Amino acid sequence: MHNKSITELAKSLRSGEFSSVELTQAFLDRINQHSALNAYITVTEERALEQAQQADVRLAAGDAELLTGIPFAQKDIFCTQNVKTSCGSKMLDNFIAPYNATVVEKFNQAGAVMLGKLNMDEFAMGSSNETSYYGAVRNPWDTNTVPGGSSGGSAAAVAAKLAVCATGTDTGGSIRQPAALCGITGLKPTYGRVSRYGMIAYASSLDQGGPMTRSAEDAAIMLQTMAGFDEKDSTSVDLPVPDYRIGLTNSLEGLKIGLPKEFFGEGLNSDVAATLEAAINEYRKLGATVTEISMPSFKLAIPAYYVIAPAECSANLSRFDGVRFGYRCENPVDLTDLYTRSRGEGFGKEVKRRILMGTYALSTGYYDAYYIKAQKIRRVISEDFKKALSEVDVIMGPVTPSTAFGIGEKIANPVEMYLSDIYTIAINLAGVPAMSIPAGFANNLPVGLQIIGNYFAEAKLLNIAHLYQQVTDWHTQSPKGFE
Ligand code: GLN
Repeated sequence: MHNKSITELAKSLRSGEFSSVELTQAFLDRINQHSALNAYITVTEERALEQAQQADVRLAAGDAELLTGIPFAQKDIFCTQNVKTSCGSKMLDNFIAPYNATVVEKFNQAGAVMLGKLNMDEFAMGSSNETSYYGAVRNPWDTNTVPGGSSGGSAAAVAAKLAVCATGTDTGGSIRQPAALCGITGLKPTYGRVSRYGMIAYASSLDQGGPMTRSAEDAAIMLQTMAGFDEKDSTSVDLPVPDYRIGLTNSLEGLKIGLPKEFFGEGLNSDVAATLEAAINEYRKLGATVTEISMPSFKLAIPAYYVIAPAECSANLSRFDGVRFGYRCENPVDLTDLYTRSRGEGFGKEVKRRILMGTYALSTGYYDAYYIKAQKIRRVISEDFKKALSEVDVIMGPVTPSTAFGIGEKIANPVEMYLSDIYTIAINLAGVPAMSIPAGFANNLPVGLQIIGNYFAEAKLLNIAHLYQQVTDWHTQSPKGFE
């Protein structure tokens, strides 16, 4: 049953083939059996079985939605009432959230069953899931490689079928990059489409939650539940949520695809490039036309991001001071000692690096030189996307420069690690939506194809992804040992 899609599961639950309790137990058993992947930080077994029981009651009463009774998992960045919410950090190792994130509330209302909280890079800072206080996550396709990050636990769990689907968050690539490295489908919605209330903030102007699933159809179902205006999030956008499933099979005849020449140049692994070429050919067969475009600002995205994201994180993470909540050092001698040691002992190395970079960039004297300049670059990048997306319907390209790299391979070299998001970061700076879909393999490891659309074009992206998944079977393949 763990191989079924959400709609197939919904059917089985309604026909009585199995109950949500049975389905949930099957997933809990798999989580146990594959605990070596380290995908979960917390497994909420008892709570899951209770939710499953309630779902079975709803199903029997004929009052169920598509997600009712479906076992999924939350990235441990979403606050879940009465459940530990660690954000992958020692700082929040003792934090039991007193309230639910809006996204969590929405899944509860839909009657979905939460299996637990998924591992992630500390405060979502990382591209390999190696900065987690709870240890590295392993990629089920090759357990010596990383699953990507920061939503590495989510990607590994979905790929290994330790959950039907999962939530992720994406500040600079954290849904798409791990989705690509683990061979699953991931969607970063338009900034403001999904509420950030109760989603622990990293860089507030970039963070966006979204679905991580095996298929585009499942992603459409999840996004339907996640999207929508929330008065508790002042940056959430008050626009109607379309039906994301209704246009999934729309024809792609005449679709205009743009390939930025900057995305296919130096730095892209040649096997990955060849795999993507084959994927783009499938789109030609589906009736699309492909043209080369240019995104001249592309190379400025990483430097601008690594000023803006740390600047915002240095402000957001100032609340973790050992006083209000979170980790507190032992026997402080005075207040300064309490702050210094609580933060010094509670945060990991990468988080400290970001706080230092951000504080520096925001300091008097450097603010204009770094922060303001980065914001100007951000504007130029947005303009580049606007221009490109007025000429073509969607942009396609790689998600990552290579397939999954080895655990330990890049962790000592932050700049090299930062470069693994080179194709994803500009999208967050512009705020447009983008997907990663499984597009084949290079050296036996999954390759993701990125599809970037205009603001609020999620339905179009899902349609484009879904049709590809009707003529290819990359998204249905299983890592060995996880069939
Ligand atoms: N790898 C990028 C970073 O560390 C993006 C992470 C993310 O999207 N949360 O900032």
